[in-house]
Amino acid sequence: MPDTTPPAPEAAGFPAAAASEARSVAELDAALTTCRACPRLVAWREETARVKRPAFVDQEYWARPVPGFGPPDAPLALVGLAPAAHGGNRTGRIFTGDASGDALFAALYDVGLASRPTATHRGDGLRLHGVRVTMPVHCAPPGNRPTTAERDTCRPWLARELALLSPALRAVVVLGGFAWQTLLPVLADAGWQLPRPRPAFGHGAETTLTSSVGQRTLHLVGGYHPSQRNMSTRTLTPAQLREVLFRGAVLARLPAVPPRRDPQEAT
Ligand code: SF4
Repeated sequence: MPDTTPPAPEAAGFPAAAASEARSVAELDAALTTCRACPRLVAWREETARVKRPAFVDQEYWARPVPGFGPPDAPLALVGLAPAAHGGNRTGRIFTGDASGDALFAALYDVGLASRPTATHRGDGLRLHGVRVTMPVHCAPPGNRPTTAERDTCRPWLARELALLSPALRAVVVLGGFAWQTLLPVLADAGWQLPRPRPAFGHGAETTLTSSVGQRTLHLVGGYHPSQRNMSTRTLTPAQLREVLFRGAVLARLPAVPPRRDPQEAT
């Protein structure tokens, strides 16, 4: 008789086994938040929650894997990197309560894809319009640098989430080279045909994948990650971020507001 005992959340095989059993994005999110498959990241997310940052010393940190955020039938996905130790790992919602999220949600609001320009906590009322934000690594990594092994261990969650989003998905804005390198093989394994040579990451890079079955297409748009470092060095400006999100919205056939050009912002 086959062993039907579900794997324990701390088991290395848990992500693949639990993700494949999820029949909806909600089920996937519920299973994901119990995951303990990466010992280093589990230790870091919990240590961060114990030590805290002085500004948040009276808050209880989430200290678990952070699921994606946004409607499960979104035609546009944004793929970032991983939760921030004192952002998503504190608030329990990706890009919420940190500088990267401040930049991202302000830009999403500006182009009409978010209900408000700020994200402070899970009960703040923020809604995304036709956009689902997710990431290749769901636990905060030390120094914002997950290892290759951690990325690979977390991969089944991303693969399953994209499969569940797939019926409505038309475009993905890929925020950063790490996400780009992670996403391409996941999409290839899911049956999307990649152009040869493989498209290189860059801000504004675009490529279109075709499905090996049927006539479907999926557009990818590369964009620099709105990290505090990229924004403070102006490697990525607010205007550039708005433009790449708007481009994703157009390719996903979402109603969006053309990005404004703020004369106060150097582009
Ligand atoms: Fe699980 Fe992913 Fe967190 Fe690793 S990074 S513990 S696979 S949710």
